[in-house]
Amino acid sequence: MLKGIVVKAYNSYYYLQSGNKIITCHLRGRFKKGRFSLIVGDEVTYTLTGPEKGIIEDILPRRSMLKRPMVANVDQVVLTFAAVNPDINPALIDRFLVIAEYSELDIIICINKIDLANIDTIASLVERYVQVGYRMFTVAAKTGIGIAKLQEYLHDKISVFAGPSGAGKSTILNAVQPGLELTTGEVSHKIGRGKHTTRFAELLPLNGGGFVVDTPGFSFTDFSEMEEAHLMDYFPEIAQIAPTCKFNTCIHYKEPQCAVKQAVAEGLIHTERYQSYLDILTEIKASKRGF
Ligand code: GDP
Ligand code: ZN
Repeated sequence: MLKGIVVKAYNSYYYLQSGNKIITCHLRGRFKKGRFSLIVGDEVTYTLTGPEKGIIEDILPRRSMLKRPMVANVDQVVLTFAAVNPDINPALIDRFLVIAEYSELDIIICINKIDLANIDTIASLVERYVQVGYRMFTVAAKTGIGIAKLQEYLHDKISVFAGPSGAGKSTILNAVQPGLELTTGEVSHKIGRGKHTTRFAELLPLNGGGFVVDTPGFSFTDFSEMEEAHLMDYFPEIAQIAPTCKFNTCIHYKEPQCAVKQAVAEGLIHTERYQSYLDILTEIKASKRGF
C-alpha cells in the first residue's frame, strides 16, 4: 500500500506528499459519511488511479492534534520572539510557553534579530530558559546567523511557528527554506492580513525532509479553558517542586509552607517566572468568575 501525508486540503481534494511527488486525491466514499474528517498533517494510505492521482484508502493513527491551526501530527512548536523591535518581553514569552505546554507540543524557543540586540541582555534571558530545560536558539534571520542550526532541528519533523506579530516568523521560514517567499513586513503593514489566519493551513516541505506549517499557531492567548490547579503543569520548574509543598492541593499562591515560594526566595525559581505564574493564575480565576 502506498503512503502519503496530507499537505493541503482544498475543495474536497487532498494533496499528498508521497516520496518526492504530490498526488492529488479524493477520499474513498465510505469516509464521506459521519463525522470523519481528514486534515493537513494526516498520514494516509492510498491507491493510484492515474499519473499523480489517487484515492485515499485509510488514515493512520494521529500522534498529535493542534487546534489552531488544525494540523495533525505536529511534532514541535518554534516559539519565536524578537530580541529588539519589538523589544523582548519575558512575560509574553511565558504566556506563549504556557499555551504551548498546554497543547502538549515539544518546544523550541527562538530569539530572532540578535543582529540588533545587546548580547548581555539576551545571554541572561537565554540562561533563564535553559535552566528551566527549554531548547534555546538565537538567530538573525536577516543575516543568516544561527539558521543552519535551527534547520537541523527542523529536519524530518513537522514544526509550527508561533509568536507575536513582527517577531520575524516569516523571515525565518524564508531563510530556512529558500524559495518559500512568504510575505514579510513591518507590524503595521501586516495588520490587514488578519483574515488569512482563518484559512486552512498548509504544510510546506523542507529540503531533505520535514515540513513547516505555513500559518502561525495560537496567536490569541486565552487561558479561560485552563484549570487553576493545572497551571503549574505548564511551568516545568514549578511542577517539579510542587510535590514537596505541605498541602497537596497547594497552588503556590497564599498557602503556608509552600515549597515553590521557598524556591523563589532561594533563587532556584526565577522571580519573573513565578510572577508570570501568578499573573496567569489571576486571569484564570477571573475568567471562572465570568469577567
Ligand atoms: P512575522 O510577523 O513574525 O512573520 O515577522 P516578519 O517575518 O514579517 O518580520 C517582521 C519585520 O522584522 C520585517 O520587517 C523583517 O524584515 C524584520 N526582521 C526579521 N528578521 C530580522 C532579523 O534577523 N534582523 C532584523 N534586523 N530584522 C529582521
Ligand atoms: Zn506550593
